[in-house]
Amino acid sequence: MKMYDIIKKKRDGQELSAAEIAYVVNGAVSGGVPDYQLTALLMAVYFKGMSERETAELTTAIAASGAQISLGLPKAVDKHSTGGVGDTATLIVAPVVAACGVPVAKMTGRGLGHTGGTVDKLESISGFSCVLTPEQFKAQVARVGLALISPSAELAPADKVLYALRDVTATVESIPLIATSIMSKKIAAGATHIVLDVKYGRGAFMQERLAAEALATAMVDIGRRVGRPTTALLTSMDAPLGNAIGNALEIKEALAVLAGSGGSPDLKTVALAVACEMVLHYYPELSHADAERKVGEALDSGAAMKKFAEVVAAQGGDLTQPLPVAGFSRTVTAQAAGFITAIDPLALGGLAVDLGAGRRKKDDVIDYGAGIVLHVRVGTRVALGQPLLTAYAAEPISSATAHALRDAISIGDKHVNPPALILKTLGV
Ligand code: URA
Ligand code: CA
Repeated sequence: MKMYDIIKKKRDGQELSAAEIAYVVNGAVSGGVPDYQLTALLMAVYFKGMSERETAELTTAIAASGAQISLGLPKAVDKHSTGGVGDTATLIVAPVVAACGVPVAKMTGRGLGHTGGTVDKLESISGFSCVLTPEQFKAQVARVGLALISPSAELAPADKVLYALRDVTATVESIPLIATSIMSKKIAAGATHIVLDVKYGRGAFMQERLAAEALATAMVDIGRRVGRPTTALLTSMDAPLGNAIGNALEIKEALAVLAGSGGSPDLKTVALAVACEMVLHYYPELSHADAERKVGEALDSGAAMKKFAEVVAAQGGDLTQPLPVAGFSRTVTAQAAGFITAIDPLALGGLAVDLGAGRRKKDDVIDYGAGIVLHVRVGTRVALGQPLLTAYAAEPISSATAHALRDAISIGDKHVNPPALILKTLGV
């Protein structure tokens, strides 16, 4: 087999065979296919696309390029969000679903750009670690019903090679390539059933609704073809999902939702909708209404909170220690009376990184107490001088930053309804 012929075939818009796809993936990991040929193929895929069959076969090949965790359970359900601002849903979904008796084997990442990562959030809890061996991961899923692991170098190594090349050759934005990248990692981590929260809107990886929907459809198709049933929720990321943006601040908000004592209603709505789909994969005999009831009970009874505490203890965390608190804060107030018409998630996600909550470069150190807490949501009526948000940082917050924070929140004369939070569910 010659890489030249494979590139030419895709360049001319033809479908690649399973053997050709396997050749490319093996060559990416072994180094047998040079980067210039891999990137030429990636660019050809960017322009010509891939069929459903090719997309599924590429996913399987990437998942098989390294270790594949076998959890030894009939079913293990995972969830994935394509990333958002104030998206603390995993910290609520995982314990709720586990409290419903569903084993949750969660692979989870660090923050990227303006979006946060669950590993960073959990590490703001004293002692907590997501570094588990596959054996520890498996044992904890069996014992506690929930474990959270950060991606290891052994899982889907072909994705790391291909993603690094895409990142520097303007080929990230290809729906089949994104879909295979996400799904291969979920499959390698042992999920038998997958629920995706695919976000669209200003703060999302896919800003356009139609592109997000095409991505969701591609991932649901992959799941069906490779025998890992997948459901995708299409949800809005036109405003931060939670009120908190920043690691320890988001842990606090997740704990408030789990305790039933507060938190953003939108965050709770999306978390419970994702939880409901996960429960339905595990108990297909339940009606949607039954699954909603089960998930609601897990939250309201305190069982989910108990499960969260159990997982924290199992992974070395200590919730009796105080969460990190930033040394400085500054509250931004409304310059006019009116209604909140928009809250820019992209701007606030970027400002939270500037305040110390995320990384600009891979080696940057996170300030776990830093970030933003919103006091208003889209549609809230505000009076002149009413607090809009409070920013937290290790250093005094400048007036320039305060202005930028204020600019991220729009106030108008007329009440606007926030956009529909959950647009549709695919794959059910
Ligand atoms: N996230 C991924 O994991 N892979 C992509 O290709 C894009 C986003
Ligand atoms: Ca991602």
